[in-house]
Amino acid sequence: MTKQVRNTAAKTAVMEMLSQSSTALSHGEIYQSLAETCDRVTVYRILDRLIEEGVAHRIALSDGTVKYALCEQCGDGHHHAHSHLHFNCVLCGGVSCLEVEIPHVQLPRKYKMHDVSLVVNGLCAACNS
Ligand SMILES: [Zn+2]
Ligand SMILES: [Zn+2]
Ligand SMILES: [Zn+2]
Repeated sequence: MTKQVRNTAAKTAVMEMLSQSSTALSHGEIYQSLAETCDRVTVYRILDRLIEEGVAHRIALSDGTVKYALCEQCGDGHHHAHSHLHFNCVLCGGVSCLEVEIPHVQLPRKYKMHDVSLVVNGLCAACNS
């Protein structure tokens, strides 16, 4: 297999993992399942590429962990303004995209918002039942 073919296969595998998972995945979680096909750096490159293409987005948690999730309505090489929030379960550690609108944020004069990210910590539906 050429390197090109291998990388395309790895990219497809990453997209499948993200779409089949109900929660966002970290680089480490993705790398674990792909360790036989590619190295850590390749996984980072694939994730960067997916973000550039508007296929996936990054979720930065307050403890510095970064998770990745597929975008619902982005694509064509750019992201539409994400207005959903992210939920971080303190019990199972699951991070997921919630289709809940982030409240409008009123900024002081002269400030210009590019995007806003909101992570809510708490108990997810499974842990809270
Ligand atoms: Zn997006
Ligand atoms: Zn949970
Ligand atoms: Zn999201």
